[in-house]
Amino acid sequence: MSTLYLVATPIGNLGDLSPRAREVLASVDFIAAEDTRVAQKLLNACGLPKKPMLSYYEHNRRARGEEVLARLRAGESCALVTDAGTPAISDPGEDLVALCAESDVPVIPIPGCCAAVCALAVSGLPTGRWCFEGFLSVNKKARHEHLDMLKTESRTMIFYEAPHKLCATLRDLAEAFGGTRRVSLSRELTKLHEQTLRMTLDEAVTYFSQTPPRGEFVLIVQGAPVLDGTQDDPDRLAAAAVEVRRRMANGQTQKDAVKAVSAEAGVKKNTLYRFVLEAKEE
Ligand code: SAM
Repeated sequence: MSTLYLVATPIGNLGDLSPRAREVLASVDFIAAEDTRVAQKLLNACGLPKKPMLSYYEHNRRARGEEVLARLRAGESCALVTDAGTPAISDPGEDLVALCAESDVPVIPIPGCCAAVCALAVSGLPTGRWCFEGFLSVNKKARHEHLDMLKTESRTMIFYEAPHKLCATLRDLAEAFGGTRRVSLSRELTKLHEQTLRMTLDEAVTYFSQTPPRGEFVLIVQGAPVLDGTQDDPDRLAAAAVEVRRRMANGQTQKDAVKAVSAEAGVKKNTLYRFVLEAKEE
């Protein structure tokens, strides 16, 4: 039956391949895989039968997409898999789904691991409203434009990052959002050395300048404070005043420190200024 199945595969632990994913992989006419060797290894490790396979990845997706679509329209069924996790999420698949949708070919998700959702769930940060930002561009201009757009984003933000780029990314995030913003870093999820670290962006910059990052990371970054009636909350003001004094001790002028901290902490500039002055007089 002509159906495209988006089959989520494990992001480390093979036990996470669902029984339904096994059934689909065993029953489809062919598998479209980001890397056919990786997919074959998965089938072997899970004791699944050999299947006709073709590669479908970033650089052949146009031509291959048409080929897959033609086979689907001729009545075959296809399972799309990527190297790890859910196809179409920072992975090939998006265009193939769009092609199928245009041609009224059914697309069925076979849910399972997605590193972004796993990391968000364990982050300890608000999960009610969040946005997925994927990988930041390595192009400086595009990267800064992306981060500029996110400066006032109040939802929890999700980023993917490779270990060799982590330190630069943490520095850029701290510069864009302020070093006091909280971040949860999850690496090697579902694997032997799985770890989730929760700290501020400044602390993360320091930590990873001393501990070389290993494994693939998901970064969950606290959103910007919402400027509403809560901005004069005394605890938030007190914490902001501590940060102002810390910056002044490091040589920043009171005016600059109040301006920067009020934006980062979501407190009114004048209220923070008064608060710092009053604390000085006490
Ligand atoms: N489609 C995949 C998914 O649903 O998770 C994501 C593919 S994307 C090309 C790969 C990125 O996902 C990695 O660079 C890393 O940020 C994240 N990732 C994948 N596996 C991970 C794991 N076991 N632990 C932490 N992050 C992981």
